[in-house]
Amino acid sequence: QVKRQPDNHVGFFDAAMSFAVSERLTLERSLKDALRDGHFELFYQPQVRLKDYRLVGAEALIRWRHPELGVIAPDKFIPVAEETGLIVPMGRWVLETACRQMRTWTDQGLMPLRIGVNISGRQFRDADLAETVAAAIAESGIDARRLDLELTESMLMADGEGTLKLLRELAALGVTLSIDDFGTGYSSLAYLKRFPVNTVKIDRAFVRDLDHDEDGRAIANAIISLAHSLSMKTIAEGVETKAQAALLARHGCDEIQGYMIGRPLPVADFSVFARNYQESTYNGGQVGDETD
Ligand code: C2E
Ligand code: MG
Ligand code: MG
Ligand code: MG
Repeated sequence: QVKRQPDNHVGFFDAAMSFAVSERLTLERSLKDALRDGHFELFYQPQVRLKDYRLVGAEALIRWRHPELGVIAPDKFIPVAEETGLIVPMGRWVLETACRQMRTWTDQGLMPLRIGVNISGRQFRDADLAETVAAAIAESGIDARRLDLELTESMLMADGEGTLKLLRELAALGVTLSIDDFGTGYSSLAYLKRFPVNTVKIDRAFVRDLDHDEDGRAIANAIISLAHSLSMKTIAEGVETKAQAALLARHGCDEIQGYMIGRPLPVADFSVFARNYQESTYNGGQVGDETD
C-alpha cells in the first residue's frame, strides 16, 4: 500500500495553518471581549409595503463598532462567532436588544413597526432558542406578533421532525417566521410549506437580475406567485432602483427592502428616518387609506 504522506508539504501547510489559527484565536478573543464590553450595535433597515409604500418594518442588522477599526460588517465576524459558538450569546443579545428597541420606539409613539431578527444555524440548533425568544419578548413586553425571525433554507432542510417541532414552538409564541435569502439554497417552496413559515424574502441576486434579464423577471414572478398560492407573503431584498420596485409591484410582491428606501441605520438615525418618512415620496401622493 502506498503511503499518502506528502511530507515535503507538511512544513508549509503547518505554517500557513498556525498563522490562520492564531489569527482566528485573536478574532475569537476580540469578539468575546466586544460582546462583554458592549461594542456590538444593531442597525435597522426600513421595509415598506409596495401597495402604498407605508413603512411597516425594519430588519435588525448587527455591526461591530471597533474602537480602532471602525464599523465592521457581519460577514467579517458572524462565521467565526458561528464556528466558536459565540453566536449563541451574541444572538441572545441581538434578540434582547431588538425587542427592547421595539419597546422604546412603541413607547415613543413611533408607529408600531415589525422587527426582523436574523437567526444563525448554530443558534437554531441550540436547545434554548425558543426559551430565549420567549424571555426577550416577556422582558420587553412587546407584542410577539411584531417580531419576525429570519431563518434560512439550509436550517429547514436539516432534520425534518426536530425542525418542525421547534418551528411550531416558535410560532406558538406568536412570532412570525421568514425564510431569508430565498432562492440561494436548493429547497422548494412546496417543501417549505410543511413548516409554519409566513414570509419568503426573495434574495437580492434575483432582484438584481430584474432590470436587465427576462429570466430574472420570470424567476421573481414564479417565486411571488408560488408563495402567494401557498399563503406566504413576499419581501424583496436589495431593491435599489425604482424600476426594480415597479417590476416587483407589477408581479404583486408585498414588501421591499433596499437602498432605494434606505440603508441600514444606527438607532438614532433610524428614528429620524421613520419620523420623516413619507409614503408620498414614492407613490405619487396616493397615501394608502387602509388600516391593518
Ligand atoms: P441578510 O439577512 O440577507 O441581510 C441583508 C443584507 O443586505 C444586509 O447586509 C444589508 O445591509 C444588505 N442590503 C440591504 N439592502 C441592500 C441593497 O439595496 N443593496 C445591497 N447591495 N445590499 C443591501 P449586512 O448588514 O452586511 O448583513 C449581511 C448578513 O449578515 C445578513 O444578510 C445576515 O445573514 C447576517 N447578519 C446580520 N445581522 C445578523 C445578526 O444579528 N445575527 C445573525 N445571525 N446574522 C446576521
Ligand atoms: Mg436577514
Ligand atoms: Mg437576506
Ligand atoms: Mg443575504
